[in-house]
Amino acid sequence: MDFGIKGRKAIVCASSKGLGRACAEALAEEGVDLVITARGADALNKTADEIRAKYGVSVTAIAGDITTEEGRAEVLEACPTPDILVNNAGGPPPGDFRDWSIDDWMKAVNANMLTAIELIRLTVDHMEAQKFGRIVNITSAAVKAPIDILGLSNGARAGLTGFVAGISRKTVANNVTINGLLPGPFDTDRLAATMKPAAEASGKSIEEVAAERAKMNPAGRFGRPEEFGAACAFLCSDKAGFITGQNILLDGGAFPGTL
Ligand code: NAP
Repeated sequence: MDFGIKGRKAIVCASSKGLGRACAEALAEEGVDLVITARGADALNKTADEIRAKYGVSVTAIAGDITTEEGRAEVLEACPTPDILVNNAGGPPPGDFRDWSIDDWMKAVNANMLTAIELIRLTVDHMEAQKFGRIVNITSAAVKAPIDILGLSNGARAGLTGFVAGISRKTVANNVTINGLLPGPFDTDRLAATMKPAAEASGKSIEEVAAERAKMNPAGRFGRPEEFGAACAFLCSDKAGFITGQNILLDGGAFPGTL
């Protein structure tokens, strides 16, 4: 299938590795020119070189913190009028809500809710004016089924999801869609980090905990980042103009509900 987005411009946030990188690669495979971001310049530049070499698209690497105003300004200076925006940032730490201060909550809400809303605000009018835009927010399966130790994530991402539910029904009239992609367990560094408390509590290694958890998933494994990237590229395609305001779970069937 031709996704019909060759030559389009995408900003893919937080994309030197993991799910963001997978989305960037899948878009590059469709011929999309990229602006990619991460805080660590070395890994980011390496990723940019690899994607450029493999897919022959233009890749601009902007090192900075996407959760800050300066970080976002630099990205938008490099690409003021993207056709595609993939919102992503690191997830908040696990823990017990009794230990979290207002400052901890502000950081999570800023990173996993307000940063995405701000980037949407600064790009959506142009997308609507040109009658094409695709926005994908990387959130979490926790939006549909909360994970007890990830209360900061459950709360902040639910806020973004609620906001998007409203505006995505307006922007679609101008062929601008906004959807959430909800990762269940994908094999990335972040997943390993979230297993650390369980490993420490049980005296097992992170690898042992990971193997047990992978076996418990109906698919018998964790997701592969490239599977996530492919779903993102489809949502960003010109074929997906009738899909908006949706929250698509990629979890190997772990969520047990009928709908
Ligand atoms: P990852 O493998 O740790 O990769 C995170 C990427 O984001 C890195 O490139 C990192 O680079 C960049 N990044 C982090 N904070 C940033 C910031 N403030 N500004 C710019 N770039 C930043 O994580 P992942 O597994 O891909 O997860 C991506 C998102 O999905 C996270 O929000 C995570 O909580 C969520 N999620 C993941 C899973 C899973 O199973 N993997 C499940 C549910 C939800 P730098 O560190 O250099 O900035």
